[in-house]
Amino acid sequence: MVKICCIGAGYVGGPTMAMIALKCPDIEVAVVDISVPRIAAWNSEVLPIFEPGLDEVVKACRSRNLFFSTDVEKHVSEAGIVFVSVNTPTKTRGLGAGKAADLTYWESAARMIADVSKSDKIVVEKSTVPVKTAEAIEKILSHNNKGVSFQILSNPEFLAEGTAMEDLKSPDRVLIGGRETPAGRKAVQALKAVYAHWVPEDRILTTNLWSAELSKLAANAFLAQRISSINAMSALCESTGADVAEVAYAIGKDSRIGSRFLNASVGFGGSCFQKDILNLVYICECNGLIDIANYWKQVVQINDYQKSRFVQRVVSSMFNTVSGKKIAVLGFAFKKDTGDTRETPAIDVCNGLLGDKALLSIYDPQVTEQQIRRDLSMNKFDWDHPQHLQPLNLSDSVNLVQVSKDAYEATKNAHGLCILTEWDEFRKLDYQKIYQQMQKPAFVFDGRNVANVVELRKIGFIVYSIGKPLDP
Ligand code: NAD
Repeated sequence: MVKICCIGAGYVGGPTMAMIALKCPDIEVAVVDISVPRIAAWNSEVLPIFEPGLDEVVKACRSRNLFFSTDVEKHVSEAGIVFVSVNTPTKTRGLGAGKAADLTYWESAARMIADVSKSDKIVVEKSTVPVKTAEAIEKILSHNNKGVSFQILSNPEFLAEGTAMEDLKSPDRVLIGGRETPAGRKAVQALKAVYAHWVPEDRILTTNLWSAELSKLAANAFLAQRISSINAMSALCESTGADVAEVAYAIGKDSRIGSRFLNASVGFGGSCFQKDILNLVYICECNGLIDIANYWKQVVQINDYQKSRFVQRVVSSMFNTVSGKKIAVLGFAFKKDTGDTRETPAIDVCNGLLGDKALLSIYDPQVTEQQIRRDLSMNKFDWDHPQHLQPLNLSDSVNLVQVSKDAYEATKNAHGLCILTEWDEFRKLDYQKIYQQMQKPAFVFDGRNVANVVELRKIGFIVYSIGKPLDP
C-alpha cells in the first residue's frame, strides 16, 4: 500500500488529506501535527474545524485509511510522499517584518524530514510559500546522511474555506510543479497518479516549480484585487446614487470579466489574501520592482480603507458618536460557513467601534466567545494607517463586549446593528421583531449586502448598505 503523510493538520492539511483518503482507498494517509489538542480533536466526534461535508468524509475514512497522529517522525519516515501543509504567516519581526512569509515552521519540518528519512521521498509544498522556496528546501534536505534522494514538488492548494470539500471534490484545476529532470518528471507523474483517482486529466496542470509556486500567490492577488476593485466602486456608488449590485451585475455579464467575486463588502479577510499579497509585495521589492510592489500594496490598502470607511459611516450616522451606545454585531467569521476568524474584517470594525467606546453585543453561529475575546485583544499589524484601529486590552474587552447566543439577544435594546458576515440565517431574521426591541431611531449597517434594504426601510430602520444609495 502506498503511504502518504501530511505534516500540518489545519484548514488545508485536514480536508485535503481526508479527500485523498476518500478517493484513494488503496492509499494509506497519515495526517500529523505537533499540536496535541488539534490531533485529539481530529480523532474525536467534534473536529477542530467546521467545514460543510467534512465530518462525513472523515467518519467514512478514519481508521480505515486515514489516520491522525502526533507521531510526526514515524509517519514521515514511513511515507513515500510527504505533503507539508504547515502555516506560513507574515513575519512579525526582523528582516521583512509585516510583509515577508515566516518560513520557520516550514524550515523545521524540512530539517525533521532530512533527519528521519531512510528511504527516497517526494516532498510536496502544500503550504503557500514564496517563489523559490523549493531551492531552500532542497538545500536543507541535501543534509540527509543516509543517501536518500528527495524530489520537491509544488502543489499549491486553491480550496476556499466554507466550500473546501466541494472544491476538493471537483477542483477547477490541480497544479503540480516540478524540476525539469527525469527524476523530477517521475515525481510529478507519481503525484498526478494520486489525483487521477478522481480529477479528470485535463484539470491536472503541470508546470515548472517556480511557475507553480508563483501561481498561488498570483491567484490570491488577482482574487483579492477583484474584491478591492468592486469595493472601490462601492464608495463611488454611495457618492453618486449608483447601486454597486447593479454595477457588478452589469459588468459581470461581460464574459471577459465574469460575475464571480464581485460582491462588495466591508472587506476581505481570512488567513491568506492579505498575507499572500504582502508576501508578493516583499518579493517584488526584493527584486527591485518597486512600482509593481506599490501596485499590489494598493489592494491591501483599499481593503483597510473599506473597513475604516465602514466604521466612519456607523459613527457619523449615529450622530457622530457611538460612546455608550449598544451596537449588535451579527457575524464575526471572515465569511459564511466557517468558524475561522483569522484576519476577519470584524476585528478591525469592532476595534474601531470600541475605540469610540461603543458597547458591542456580538453573535456568530460558528465562532466561540473565547475566539472573539482573543481576537479583539490581539495586536494588529499597522499598515501606516488607520490610526483609530487599536487593539483592545482584555479588561476593556470584558466590560465593553458581550457575546450573545443569537441575533435576537444581540439586538435587544441596541441602537445599531452591523452585519459583518453573510451567514444565510441573517437573510431570514424577523427584522420586524428586531426593530421593535431596538432603541429608536434604529440603524442597520449592512457590510455584506444581505438584508433587503427596501423591506428594512419600510419597517422603519435607517439603513446603510455597502455601495447602495443612502437613505433618502
Ligand atoms: P493552520 O494554521 O490551520 O494549520 C497548520 C498546522 O501546521 C497547525 O496545526 C500547526 O500546529 C502545524 N504545524 C506547524 N509546524 C509544524 C511542524 N513542524 N510539524 C507538524 N505540524 C506543524 O494553517 P492552514 O490554514 O491549514 O494553512 C496551511 C498553509 O496552506 C498555509 O501556507 C496557507 O497559506 C495555505 N493555504 C491555506 C488556505 C486556507 O483557506 N486556510 C487555502 C490555501 C492555502
